[in-house]
Formats: sequence, C-alpha cells, structure tokens
Amino acid sequence: MEHKKTEASAIAYPCAACKMQRRKCGNKCLLAPYFPPHDPQKFCIAHRVFGAGNIVKILRDIPVESREDAVSSMVYEARARVEDPVYGCTGAVCRLQKQVLSLQSQLANTQTELFNIKAFLFSRVTGFSSVGECGETLDPFGPILSEDVADPFGLWEPPQTG
Ligand SMILES: [Zn+2]
Repeated sequence: MEHKKTEASAIAYPCAACKMQRRKCGNKCLLAPYFPPHDPQKFCIAHRVFGAGNIVKILRDIPVESREDAVSSMVYEARARVEDPVYGCTGAVCRLQKQVLSLQSQLANTQTELFNIKAFLFSRVTGFSSVGECGETLDPFGPILSEDVADPFGLWEPPQTG
C-alpha cells in the first residue's frame, strides 16, 4: 500500500493567497492575516478582480490598522464586480439610493396621512375645522393650541348624560 505524503505536512498552513499562488508563506507574509487558509474563496475573488500584486501594493501603502478594512472593501468590490460585471459596486449603490428615495417618499406619504388623521380627529373633538376658508390646511397643533391646550385628546371627555 502506497502512502502519499501530503503537502500540508511540508508547509504548515500557508495562507489562502500563498497556497493559491504556490508560494512559501511565512511570518512576514503580508496577506496571511487577511486571507486565512480556511477561506480560499475570499482571496480567489479579490485576486480575480484586483490581482495579487495590486492587493499587496495597496496594503503596503496604507497603515496596518486600516488593512483589514481595505481587504474587506476589496473583497466586497470584487464580489460586486463579479456579480455585476457592468456596474459593480455602483450598481449596488444605485439600487440602495433608489430604495432610500422610495422609502423617503413612503415616509412622507405616511406622515401626511397621519397629519390628516390627527386634523380630522381634532376637528371632531373641538368642532373646529382644520381647513381654513381659503382651503389652506392649518396645523391643529400649531400656535392656536400652544398656549394652554397642548394635547386636545388629553382634555377631551365624553359628554356626560344626566
Ligand atoms: Zn501567505
């Protein structure tokens, strides 16, 4: 029975970058802290878009404490580029911006609805129409009430029947 000697016994856990590039990985490996051997896909995708040489160059040019974030950013950008070869990250940014605009619009509509409901309830309670003669909408909780009636619903009591 033939016994095959595995590569792992010769090199103790090369990082994912060195393993993929078939290089020696040592204590001074710049990529080892960011590309652990158990997650080869992380380096694979970043290498595919940026290239190992550029990743090393970028990491060398920035402070050590920022390198983790830089790697996360590159991996994110690379994934976006692979998923969307035309727009990459820009596609994700545009989608999120559209979502923000849509949600802002929904919020504005809901706030208008809420205001109208409050105005309606206010007019029912006080008999005061919140819509002025000229058709403009008055703020039922604005200056008219600010002096002594802060909460019209707090003061309201059901009519007493005697
Ligand atoms: Zn390495």
